[in-house]
Amino acid sequence: MAEPLEYPRKQALIGGDWVTTQGTLDVEAPSYGNVITQIARSQAAEVDSAVQAARLAFEGGMGDWASWTARRRGEWLIGFATAIEADHDRLAGLECVDTGKPLTQARGDISACARYFRFYGGAADKLHGETIPFESDFAVMTLREPYGVCAQIIPWNYPAQIFGRCVAAALAAGNTVVLKPAEDACLSVLRLVELAQEQGLPPGVLNVVPGLGSEAGAALSGHPDIDHLSFTGSPVTGTRVTQAAAEHHVPVTMELGGKSPQLVFADADLDAALPFLVQGIIQNAGQTCSAGSRLLVQREIADQVLERLAERFTALRCDVGEADADCGPLINARQKAKLEARLEAAANDGIRTLAQGCVAEAELAGGYFVVPRLLTDIPAGHDVLQEELFGPILAVQVFEDEAEALALANSTDFGLCAGIWTRDGGRQLRLAKGIRSGQVFINNYGAAGGIELPFGGVGRSGHGREKGFEGLRSYTRIKTVALHHG
Ligand code: NAP
Ligand code: MG
Repeated sequence: MAEPLEYPRKQALIGGDWVTTQGTLDVEAPSYGNVITQIARSQAAEVDSAVQAARLAFEGGMGDWASWTARRRGEWLIGFATAIEADHDRLAGLECVDTGKPLTQARGDISACARYFRFYGGAADKLHGETIPFESDFAVMTLREPYGVCAQIIPWNYPAQIFGRCVAAALAAGNTVVLKPAEDACLSVLRLVELAQEQGLPPGVLNVVPGLGSEAGAALSGHPDIDHLSFTGSPVTGTRVTQAAAEHHVPVTMELGGKSPQLVFADADLDAALPFLVQGIIQNAGQTCSAGSRLLVQREIADQVLERLAERFTALRCDVGEADADCGPLINARQKAKLEARLEAAANDGIRTLAQGCVAEAELAGGYFVVPRLLTDIPAGHDVLQEELFGPILAVQVFEDEAEALALANSTDFGLCAGIWTRDGGRQLRLAKGIRSGQVFINNYGAAGGIELPFGGVGRSGHGREKGFEGLRSYTRIKTVALHHG
């Protein structure tokens, strides 16, 4: 069993005040399955107060945020990054127990969160509009302005990282934020916003309304007074959120996951590729939007690759987060049951588990563990090749040539990431151009998170870009000013 936590706060943060909600929600430790604490259960009334506070703060009616220059915002963000780094151990511990992910991965997430604030802090005063040549008696410029109140709905798989990705960019651009973290994991987020307060962020600039998607999330996405909405989660919820936002013509950024392929050609450096093929699917127990969940391998080397991969999968061990094994548990009982049902259906359809990992200790029965699996003999078009399974499950397909590899890579409705393993320069570029996805990695995968690299999907993976400078721009809009000077 995980120890009960007295910390962090079981309240919502609204206009700089910690507000007690009617009722709370239990928080489980997925490594053990026991309740460790509670969080606030915000409803429409709290969401409305949070949006009002964010509006007031944006317009200068609460605190002095509206008068902060870009440079001052940047300096604050960089200072906050330093504060996150100083609180690293506590934050990583919370992330580890709350999500169940191995401690080293939780540590990496907290470092990435700090890096987002440092990156966007440095970028804040380097973002500007343009002047445009027009008629000779005009001077025309574009002003790059913040939207105003940004609503952000984030998932449970990477709470601290996605908090950094969304909040740092929105604040750097001068917006204010109302954030709805996920019911299943938001303890690091609650500590982060407390830390932001301690670091002197004016009241109302960053508001957090923990609660259920169907309550706080629905109220936030349908709120008439938000100016922008960023959502990360499933395509089904993304559609619902988009529809709610459309009611008030609120622009949205949608990050909706993927079914990303890694393509391995006969000329690939297999020693380099193999660790990425494994890590790409077991990271965070496969609960990663950019997981490399499909392996496409060329016929000539298929036996060799599968043999070497099977050896690695067999050696993979699942354990509680703090044991820092290869894989932690899934986030909750529902996700585990859903995945197990899919795996059973796959087995009934003749799909073969070529190799699988193991759970380190028999007594880990309370945790939501599903061991990593390597699946082969999959009929074309099968569910396990089309749907995000959100577990450590790698689905293998064999291809003959480049044309077939490309067709298979593009054979889902998703398009978030792709990995290409080949030494052939022409093929690298042909495939990079041909693959439908927001990111393409050549002879690597994931590029270590790459907070500097624009990220986002096509098709059912969503639209809009986060991360990098592109992410910062997407939290601003352009105003054109045309001055007739005669
Ligand atoms: P989800 O429903 O998409 O949840 C994402 C966020 O949206 C959470 O904060 C959730 O709140 C909130 N939400 C839920 N219903 C809402 C509504 N009607 N209006 C506004 N916000 C709402 O995802 P999930 O149910 O946790 O997971 C289901 C599947 O989604 C997974 O199996 C996986 O395939 C996919 N997923 C993908 C990603 C990704 O990064 N691509 C992340 C998470 C999940 P609560 O959770 O607090 O209710
Ligand atoms: Mg949890």
